[in-house]
Amino acid sequence: MDGLMMDWPLLVPSILRRASRIYPEKQIVSRWADGSIHRMTYGDLEPRVHRLMNALRGLGIGPGDRVATLAWNSHRHLELYFAVPSIGAVLHTINFRLAREQLRYIVHHAKDRLLFVDKSVAALAAAMQPELPGVEHYIIMDDRCPEPPARPGPSIDYEELLASSSERAEFPDLDEKQAAGMCYTSATTGDPKGVVYSHRSTFLHAMAGCLVDAGGLSERETTLPAVPMFHVNAWGIPYSAAMTGAKIVLPGSGLLGQPLAEILESERVTTAAGVPTIWNLLYQHLKEKTYDLSSLHTLLVGGSAVSRAMIENFQHDFGIRVLHAWGMTETSPLGTVSELRGAMRSWPEEQQLEFRLKQGVPPIGVEIRILGDDGQDLPWDGEQVGELAVRGPWIASSYYENPSAGAAFTDDGWFRTGDMASIDQYGYVQLRDRKKDLIKRKGEWISSVDMENEIVGHPGVAEAAVVARPDPVNDEQPAVLVVRAPGAGPVEPQEIVDRLAKKFARWQLPLPEDIHFVDALPKTGVGKIDKKVLRRQLAGGPEPGGN
Ligand code: AMP
Repeated sequence: MDGLMMDWPLLVPSILRRASRIYPEKQIVSRWADGSIHRMTYGDLEPRVHRLMNALRGLGIGPGDRVATLAWNSHRHLELYFAVPSIGAVLHTINFRLAREQLRYIVHHAKDRLLFVDKSVAALAAAMQPELPGVEHYIIMDDRCPEPPARPGPSIDYEELLASSSERAEFPDLDEKQAAGMCYTSATTGDPKGVVYSHRSTFLHAMAGCLVDAGGLSERETTLPAVPMFHVNAWGIPYSAAMTGAKIVLPGSGLLGQPLAEILESERVTTAAGVPTIWNLLYQHLKEKTYDLSSLHTLLVGGSAVSRAMIENFQHDFGIRVLHAWGMTETSPLGTVSELRGAMRSWPEEQQLEFRLKQGVPPIGVEIRILGDDGQDLPWDGEQVGELAVRGPWIASSYYENPSAGAAFTDDGWFRTGDMASIDQYGYVQLRDRKKDLIKRKGEWISSVDMENEIVGHPGVAEAAVVARPDPVNDEQPAVLVVRAPGAGPVEPQEIVDRLAKKFARWQLPLPEDIHFVDALPKTGVGKIDKKVLRRQLAGGPEPGGN
């Protein structure tokens, strides 16, 4: 039919173009490794991206080639976010906290040709260089960390590379369905699995992050992604920020309580995003030292379940709203956000909390269902628990060059997440557990997530993890690991059991001797509690399986 709309592709470079034309004065702020601040604008970004595009071409990079990063959140990483896809190449952000073996695997599997490395991570790149024969050049980004003991050799200096490249680059015609970026999942058994994001999926996903009910980024916000840019495109925030002209604050490696509090205050950040661990650390620091965080209204928290204590503490002590979201590497990651509906806002606080603790509803673009053991749909009654399945334009349809990992994708076009959830009558998803983290006792299931949430509500507890301990009589028993809150009085195992007894059936309760107090919990490369390691430690033997 004629008279139709233009067939205009959804491309990453058009995000950059809009930011630099319409919001040239808006700031991009980065924190160097020595704590000093770097400032530039979206107007400054465009010519630097042009130079970088030319530099990449000068190094022989063309459409489809993979360009990898080992880098913290910074303006240079942002430049790569735009330059690499703009020449038709694929930006592969690498989680450098992964084990060496996994890093070697993913660089090799992705066939990365260039590695852009922050100076603070250069020693790792140098150590791995002999194992990475496919990497042709190492480009070092000097992030003002003290001189590392080693760096790959020979290497190219990022700023010298840009300075020697021309400021006007040609933008090729691109297909919106071609690859723009890729990221490997970290929390799996076996080898990491690659997920490839297209220009179209990246663009649409970034738009979703600007929906009022799904993060609501806008020009009026100052956003700080505390989620690393090496993990699922920092939840798309760098693209959403540029798309709307929001000021963006990139905290580098400064993710612990103090540096984060300082930059949130000094840059008047209004909204920040990251995993619960980061915000727990921030909360503890804010209890020790006073900052003016009056600009900060929302923390977007996902990656692991948010606890009631986190929502209440931030709200009551600092007037900051915790907005709970769920997602995965495979879902770009935005899957659901738990914004309250209008009518819910006049409900009693307790009832509102019940919904704010859920993972939330999907934004337009993501469709959800829960599947029973037989693969049939379960009702949305908030009770029945099945495997959450999703589909949509920013959900992976397969893993990169990994046909053996295809079981997660159903024949009728859904992705099985491996997360066990219920969905209520309003469409709010509530995650009950990761399929492999559920605890099975005498044939019945116990949700480790529900139990953890209850335990961290104890004022003497900073963090808690519940994992299955194999038991010859009961199949499995819940084993609890607790980190005491600094400065809090002693906590007895029986207190934890008594607290749980108010919420859980008797048969679900852990034994007092299964409650262990520890100094810290092991974390994955993206700051989630690493249950694989805990299970292995409890079993006192080799790792019994992944999560
Ligand atoms: P990743 O792909 O490494 O980001 O991990 C995705 C997994 O993290 C999901 O499948 C969930 O198991 C978990 N996850 C993400 N967000 C949440 C959340 N809000 N609550 C509980 N678990 C979450």
